Amino acid sequence: MALERTISIIKPDAVAKNVIGEIYSRFEKAGLKVVAAKMKHLSRKEAEGFYAVHRERPFFNALVEFMISGPVMIQVLEGENAVQKNRDLMGATNPKEAAAGTIRADFAQSIDANAVHGSDSLENAAIETAYFFAATELCPR
Ligand code: GDP
Ligand code: MG
Repeated sequence: MALERTISIIKPDAVAKNVIGEIYSRFEKAGLKVVAAKMKHLSRKEAEGFYAVHRERPFFNALVEFMISGPVMIQVLEGENAVQKNRDLMGATNPKEAAAGTIRADFAQSIDANAVHGSDSLENAAIETAYFFAATELCPR
């Protein structure tokens, strides 16, 4: 196993539900440390750029509208196997298919309002981290 960093975003639905702390608690219990964080209301341009890989997908516009519907909480998580560990904590994209006890099973409503984003690879984690944070904003500990 390797010490990794990944990006997590608590999406507007979960921020509105006031469960930031509950979700952070799951990261901490799993041994993931927050090494950078910011709350932000994304502009349309920022959301479109972040999800550029999905630009051709039929749900792209709905996804962007949702992501700019309210503030999000963005954090860099550090820990052993952080990328996969965070994906495991999140659960499946569609909360109806998410395993019991996962963030999406417990806090998400639907496939579009699904509580959290998590990087799907180490390579994308690095790209997504650079999208939102300057290197000087990371606080390894
Ligand atoms: P993730 O990595 O589990 O977040 O899933 P993807 O990378 O495949 O999709 C990115 C995001 O697009 C998901 O988290 C959903 O918010 C949204 N999304 C994915 N599939 C659908 C869909 O079929 N319909 C809608 N409305 N949104 C979707
Ligand atoms: Mg994804």
